[in-house]
Amino acid sequence: MYEDFKEHCIAAYGGYLKDNNELLSCTSGGIATAISVKFIEDGGYVAGVKYTQDFKNAEYLLTNKKEELELFKGSKYIDAQVGDTFAKVKELLDANEKVLFIGLPCKVGALNFYLKKEYENLLTCELVCHGPTLSQVHTEYIEYLEKKFNSKIVDFSVRRKKDSWLPTYLYAKFENGKEFIKEYYKTEYGIAFSKISLERCYNCKFKGNNRTGDIQIGDFWGYDKSREYYNNNGTSCILVHTEKGNNYLKSNELLALYPVTFEEIVKANQLIIRTKPKGPKVDKFKSNLESKGLFYAVKKSMGLKGKLKKLCPNFVKNIIKEILRRG
Ligand SMILES: Cc1cc2nc3c(=O)[nH]c(=O)nc-3n(C[C@H](O)[C@H](O)[C@H](O)COP(=O)(O)OP(=O)(O)OC[C@H]3O[C@@H](n4cnc5c(N)ncnc54)[C@H](O)[C@@H]3O)c2cc1C
Ligand code: SF4
Repeated sequence: MYEDFKEHCIAAYGGYLKDNNELLSCTSGGIATAISVKFIEDGGYVAGVKYTQDFKNAEYLLTNKKEELELFKGSKYIDAQVGDTFAKVKELLDANEKVLFIGLPCKVGALNFYLKKEYENLLTCELVCHGPTLSQVHTEYIEYLEKKFNSKIVDFSVRRKKDSWLPTYLYAKFENGKEFIKEYYKTEYGIAFSKISLERCYNCKFKGNNRTGDIQIGDFWGYDKSREYYNNNGTSCILVHTEKGNNYLKSNELLALYPVTFEEIVKANQLIIRTKPKGPKVDKFKSNLESKGLFYAVKKSMGLKGKLKKLCPNFVKNIIKEILRRG
């Protein structure tokens, strides 16, 4: 069914980081963390994305310090500033150092373009990408929380796991010791993320056969709970595009990996092969966001169904589903 899209796929896996505590602190199956840890243990450098110190933006950091990998954990749903990372990566590669670069497919593509040649000592990992949301969404939500709690944020995540992978929570910790946690897709931030992406993402070229990394990782949305690749604390899908990528994965003893098919991964994760369409309400949402802010734009964008979804507790939703199922 997906034959036309898997030109580069030499292997596909479902899997997770074996250490369950570590896995709970990662976004999905912790593959990015597992390959980063191994890379640094083997003497290499890792380029990944962290929040800026004030948590209002995201930026790349290139490091060979294992403790700094904590900063990379968790998807940041905004575009990261690259700064001089490409130049530093090139310098290290030319000095024969090993580098792992993890990023959104267009950023991995941009790095390859910048480098102009292939390096045996470079490993690249693309994330499956729905498209980051506008930085205004993130900044406004951070400012809203800091005002509400009258304190600066010292820790923040949009992919916090409570005691399992799903649902995903937005979590913030403040200087005054207080904490905030709420189901992500019930926050204005989560709603905006699902409604609006960067303009370039509606015309994304990095889909299907246009692959730029050695491997690609994402959430394994098409999971089957009865299969051995499934872990309730987080499950990743992995598509492998090069022998180099496959060798790195297979030799990583921190990972539990199980072969699956391309179809099993893509059937519930269509953004791997297709660009998301721009819905008719995106421009309106954007103009409301720019003129009157996040909270106004979200309120204006929600129909009755959306409002009920936001307000309705999960147990009530489950009762309704059960009644509908029984007819
Ligand atoms: C904007 C965005 C959209 C995404 N959309 C989808 C999707 O539609 N479907 C899907 O299956 N998966 C999507 N993902 C990927 C998914 O959220 C996880 O990042 C991925 O499964 C890796 O999980 P992990 O547990 O291995 O990562 P962890 O071990 O938690 O590590 C996170 C890794 O992601 C990197 N990272 C975090 N934020 C960014 C960023 N903004 N830009 C570049 N790198 C970043 C970090 O450097 C780190 O290496 C998206 C990720 C992002 C950032
Ligand atoms: S959707 Fe495409 S253009 Fe947008 S950030 Fe992701 S890879 Fe880049």
